[in-house]
Amino acid sequence: MAVLKLSGVCKRYDNNSGSLFRRKARNDFAVNDLSFECRDGEFLGILGPSGCGKSTTLRMIAGLEKITAGDIYIGDVRINDLLPKDRNIGLAFEDYALYPPLKIYDNLAFNLRARHVPEAEIRESVERIAKLMKVDDLLEMKPLALSGGQKQRVNIARALVRKPGLLLLDEPLSHLDGKMRQQLRYEIKHMHHEIQCTTIIVTHDQMEAMSLADRIAIMDMGRLQQIGTPLEVYDDPVNVFVAGFIGEPPMNLMTSIIRRVEGGFDFSFEGSDLRIPVPTRYNGIVRDGMAVTLGVRPVDVRIAQEGEASGTPIPVAVYEDLGDERRIGVRVGENLLNLTTPETIYYDRGDPVTLKFNAEKTHLFDIDTGERIRAPEK
Ligand code: ADP
Repeated sequence: MAVLKLSGVCKRYDNNSGSLFRRKARNDFAVNDLSFECRDGEFLGILGPSGCGKSTTLRMIAGLEKITAGDIYIGDVRINDLLPKDRNIGLAFEDYALYPPLKIYDNLAFNLRARHVPEAEIRESVERIAKLMKVDDLLEMKPLALSGGQKQRVNIARALVRKPGLLLLDEPLSHLDGKMRQQLRYEIKHMHHEIQCTTIIVTHDQMEAMSLADRIAIMDMGRLQQIGTPLEVYDDPVNVFVAGFIGEPPMNLMTSIIRRVEGGFDFSFEGSDLRIPVPTRYNGIVRDGMAVTLGVRPVDVRIAQEGEASGTPIPVAVYEDLGDERRIGVRVGENLLNLTTPETIYYDRGDPVTLKFNAEKTHLFDIDTGERIRAPEK
């Protein structure tokens, strides 16, 4: 097991640098000033959209990519200049090819043989890990005969037989179909529970990160946006990027003008009569006419019951029945506001609805920087 620490890590690909005379744009860096720690035995997810620098980060940790600036430590050892083979890291990459002519057993044994581990020890390790990853009945087969899910399980097993201090998984589920993904997700979670190896998974799929990881590091444009438990990043996003990235359907993010009303403030919206009360805890920091980005999760809006309604009815613009939930969209000025409900209700386009907001669950963000505006602690 191992503690991994990244401190101010940057990566700039030389072939991506443009003209010598051009001033370097911020996003010339594939990874920019990245610092975080992964605890001993922790399962950490690195999550972000395509191109945000996740794989580059993983490849720098593995030693497959040179670091432009900053330091990486495993325990107290600075590993910047260590060869990949000396880092005690197990890698399972999305396209990490198995050797086609070799049986699965020999694929799993390959690295241990290269290190002259005695055959009896290799057999013990291969059989134990093959059982754990549920590939023990495939050991005599060749890679070509395996399904995508089986190959990926072998891929992870191969990384594990070396008893790595740190296991790195790069999008291990991305090529699999829905049911297989779910199954392998369960196997990976079980594997981690059994061997408690410090593990980092890179993924663009929030469900994968949320369900597997103890904590998630969310990246955008090469920079760390937030690191926290799945609940922390969902409930307490630090900026509009994290707010919009975590949650399905995503959080509604709408430009709003604060209006003073009797006893407090309301959120108002250009081109709409909708008003939402501003939670009183923000009273000291908002003012009449202030523009903010308001964040509301679709589960924190509902349709008012008859008799309960107070606001102006709004016509339904989108209605989707997904079986276990209904998704309803209404236009609020320029924005489409989505809400989800487990209730079995049916609407046609244009049907008027009145909305009720769980105002205490609304999030405020700075309109210019996108940073969260926090209410003072009570
Ligand atoms: P992610 O894994 O989040 O999709 P990557 O780490 O692969 O992102 O890529 C981050 C950025 O670095 C992207 O802009 C990508 O185009 C660039 N990049 C990745 N690999 C190379 C490379 N070998 N040479 C030049 N640019 C690269």
